Amino acid sequence: MNNEQSVVSRCDAVTCRFNRDQNCTAGQIEVSLSADQARCLTFSPAQDASAESDRPGQGQ
Ligand code: SF4
Repeated sequence: MNNEQSVVSRCDAVTCRFNRDQNCTAGQIEVSLSADQARCLTFSPAQDASAESDRPGQGQ
């Protein structure tokens, strides 16, 4: 066991790749507060790993 804890105990952004069962596993995150809402700047959408090397439409 280690003592590392995320600053965020619970996160509803289940589409984020760091989100495991509504817990943040990123460890360190950046959050911006605008108006009444906290927005996580570390948010990164989860994707199929297979999609990463297959990006159509990247012109070259
Ligand atoms: S990185 Fe941000 S959006 Fe993603 S699970 Fe952690 S707190 Fe939520």
